[in-house]
Amino acid sequence: MNNKVIDKLKRPLRDLRISVTDRCNFRCHYCMPAEIFGPDFEFLKKSKLLTFEEITRLVQLFVKQVGVKKIRITGGEPLMRKDLHKLIQQMNDIEGIEDIAMTTNGVLLPKYATQLKEAGLQRVTVSLDSLDDEKFGKINGRGIGIQPVLDGINAAENAGMKVKINMVVQKGVNEQDILPMARFFRGTGHILRFIEYMDVGNSNGWKLDEVFPKKEIITRIHKEMPLEPIDPNYRGEVAARYRYKGTDEEIGIISSVTDAFCSTCNRARLSAEGKLYTCLFSAKGHDLREPLRSGASDKEMIDLIQNIWHTRDDRYSEERLNNTNIQRPKVEMSHIGG
Ligand code: SAM
Ligand code: SF4
Ligand code: SF4
Repeated sequence: MNNKVIDKLKRPLRDLRISVTDRCNFRCHYCMPAEIFGPDFEFLKKSKLLTFEEITRLVQLFVKQVGVKKIRITGGEPLMRKDLHKLIQQMNDIEGIEDIAMTTNGVLLPKYATQLKEAGLQRVTVSLDSLDDEKFGKINGRGIGIQPVLDGINAAENAGMKVKINMVVQKGVNEQDILPMARFFRGTGHILRFIEYMDVGNSNGWKLDEVFPKKEIITRIHKEMPLEPIDPNYRGEVAARYRYKGTDEEIGIISSVTDAFCSTCNRARLSAEGKLYTCLFSAKGHDLREPLRSGASDKEMIDLIQNIWHTRDDRYSEERLNNTNIQRPKVEMSHIGG
C-alpha cells in the first residue's frame, strides 16, 4: 500500500465519503431547503450516477494505492439508492478497509437494516435534531415526526449494528433540545454527536450568529451532567470526545466552525456522479467518471487520484476563523454528503 500520498499540507488520505445519490426524502432547511429543492428541481439521471461496479473499482484503488482505510456511505439519503446492500457486500470483500459506515436520516432503516447488516455493514450514524415532533417536522421540511427515526435506530440496533446519533445544533432553532437529547440517549449505548451548524453549499442562508458553539454545548450539558474530555481514538478524528464523569458513556462534538480541525483533515468526498472533492467546502470536484468510462487503466486512475491529492491545500474552516464572511461558491452538501 502506498502511504506516502500526502497533500501540500502533509496530510494523508484515509477517509473516503461516498455519496450514492443526490436525492432525499427529507428537505432539511439547512441542507436541501424545499424552496430550492422543489418539485421542478433536476436531480441526477440514473445514467450519470456511478454504478456499484464503478464505485467498487475506485474504492479498490483508493484503498490499495492511496491509503484509504475508512469508507462512509452517504448522500442525499443513501437508503434511497436501490439495492444499496449489494454495494456494501462488494466493498466488504475489498481487503484493507478497516471500517465501513453509513450516515442516514434513518426512516428507511426498518426496511433495510437486516439486509445491510447481513451484507456486512457494522455501523450507522442516524441524524436526529430534536425529540419534539413538531419541531423536527419543521426542520426536516416534510412534517415527519420522530417515531420513524426512532424506529430506524431500533431496527439498526436489533440488527446488531453500532449506532451513533448526529444532531445539528442551530441557535434559535433547537438549542433547547441539547439537554433532552443528551438525557434521552445517555445509557442507550448510542454515542450522541452534536454538530455545529455549517455554511455548506450556497442555499441554506447560513449566518455566524445561528451557530451554537461547541463551548456552550459543553457548558450546558456539564451543568447538569458533568463531563470530562477523552483522547481521540485516532489522529484526524472529527468529533472531540467527552464522557459523563465517572462513566464510559460518551458524547462527541463536531466543531467545524468555532474550532477548526483542517490541519489533520484526511477526508475526501466522492459525489454520486463521480466527482472527487478534496474539501466539504470545495467549489469544484475532479471528474473521475469520464476517465473511468473511457477505459482508463488502473495505473492511469491511480496517477490521476494521487495528483489530485498531491495538489490539495484546502483549509476552509481555518480560513473562516479569520473571515466569517468568505464569499465563494461551494458544492451543496446533498451532493457530496456530510
Ligand atoms: N441524509 C443523510 C442524513 O441526513 O444523515 C446523510 C446525508 S447528510 C448531508 C449528512 C450529515 O450532514 C447529517 O448528519 C446532517 O445532519 C449533516 N448536515 C447537513 N447539513 C448540515 C449543515 N448545514 N451543517 C451541519 N451539518 C449538516
Ligand atoms: Fe436529506 Fe440528510 Fe440533507 Fe436532511 S441532511 S435534507 S436528510 S441529505
Ligand atoms: Fe477538511 Fe475542508 Fe473541513 Fe478543513 S474545511 S476540515 S479541509 S473538509
